[in-house]
Amino acid sequence: MKIQNTLTRALDEIKPLEGNKIKLYTCGLTVYSQPHIGNWVAYIYWDVLVRTLKDAGFDVTRVQNITDVGHLTSDEDAGEDKMLKGALKEGITAWKVAEKYIAIADDEAYNQLGLLRPDHMPRATEYIPQQIAFVEELENKGFTYVIADGVYFDTSKLSDYGKLARLDIDGLQFGARVADTGKKNPTDFAVWKFSNPEEKRDMEWDSPWGKGFPGWHLECSVMARELLGDQIDIHTGGIDHIPVHHTNEIAQTEAVTGKQFSTYWVHNNHLKVDGTKISKSLGNGYTLQDIVDKGFDLQAFKLMVLSSHYSTEGNFTWEILEAAQNRLNKWKEAAATLWQYDVLPKADKDVNAADFDTSFSGALQDDLNTAKALQLIDEVADNALAGAVCGACLEEILGSIHFNLGIDLHIPDISEEQKILIKERQEARDDNNWEISDRIRNQLREQGIELKDTPNGQIWSRI
Ligand SMILES: [Zn+2]
Repeated sequence: MKIQNTLTRALDEIKPLEGNKIKLYTCGLTVYSQPHIGNWVAYIYWDVLVRTLKDAGFDVTRVQNITDVGHLTSDEDAGEDKMLKGALKEGITAWKVAEKYIAIADDEAYNQLGLLRPDHMPRATEYIPQQIAFVEELENKGFTYVIADGVYFDTSKLSDYGKLARLDIDGLQFGARVADTGKKNPTDFAVWKFSNPEEKRDMEWDSPWGKGFPGWHLECSVMARELLGDQIDIHTGGIDHIPVHHTNEIAQTEAVTGKQFSTYWVHNNHLKVDGTKISKSLGNGYTLQDIVDKGFDLQAFKLMVLSSHYSTEGNFTWEILEAAQNRLNKWKEAAATLWQYDVLPKADKDVNAADFDTSFSGALQDDLNTAKALQLIDEVADNALAGAVCGACLEEILGSIHFNLGIDLHIPDISEEQKILIKERQEARDDNNWEISDRIRNQLREQGIELKDTPNGQIWSRI
């Protein structure tokens, strides 16, 4: 099957490898430092992807790994080991660094952002014997060679190496010996790195080739295969993973299995801050805590992210976040009108819930068009605030399983007595009994409830 590097087809028409089961693999975080807002963008999109696939009736099994070893700062085989860097900075072992940031990331993703927990969250260090066995398989099939600093994958042995990124292999002087590194080809990559005898490592293991640790790309191939099988339906990750990390995952897995690794590859674009790349040196790597400290809801951040498509570059500014917060507040206000659905005359329910549901899920099924889906929520919210409440739409959309924006549809903040008063005031208005109408309005105002009259009836809000 041809490799797909987007979700170009309607999501509900995806043909899984097996029945209606979708096997999905997501590259997870490297747990060596405090995540910044840019790190969360991918997971916010993939959360909606999983919810949308489930909504379309698929049985989704999702694996998202935790990289706690082997990731070097260059994303290739050069640079510092990220875990060691974290350990040196914090004065604790790499194992403690991993524990600390696994706990922080877990709390941020699942408690604070309200994302769905993946079915499996394996740690690379829990799969060392399986990674060694995988390298042995590659070795037996003739795909590896050993040089001074590790065991390398020989990319010239695979006829379609680089197909995902459409790499210009000739342009990379394929086959030329690469100066300094001892690699046979520029694109070759380490599947096992040897420990440097001069450097103390907290994380290292014995292997048939020598003491060391697995190459970063290897863990994803191995954990995907162990938990999902030789072939999967969808693999997600950031666009920066296309030329190296995902290209190498494909190479290793397909070299071992002889089968296509994943049917779909889906990549999210990055978030910039104030139009520039997030970097530690610029100090613009804001955290979720920074957002909370400035008085914003984290759900507003999610809303901000989802207002653009996963494949386009996003931009974060405090002004854009404020606009998202205002939008969310408006939706919350609209949700507070939900109970009125029961007391309004039938004629005012002028939004067709069934049509709405179709267009909403249709937008998401269309390659995850989150921006369009959010605009449809705006329409419902505007209608609701104008008194034309579509109870089913509000229930369906604002409490939507798709976004989990923390909107409470069953706000217990006015009493039954107050609702009865609102109803009585409507009756008084219908009878042109302004004295009673004003009295009730003042009575409610004293209780902290303001009433707004719309052509479709009254809407309350807290003063
Ligand atoms: Zn990966």
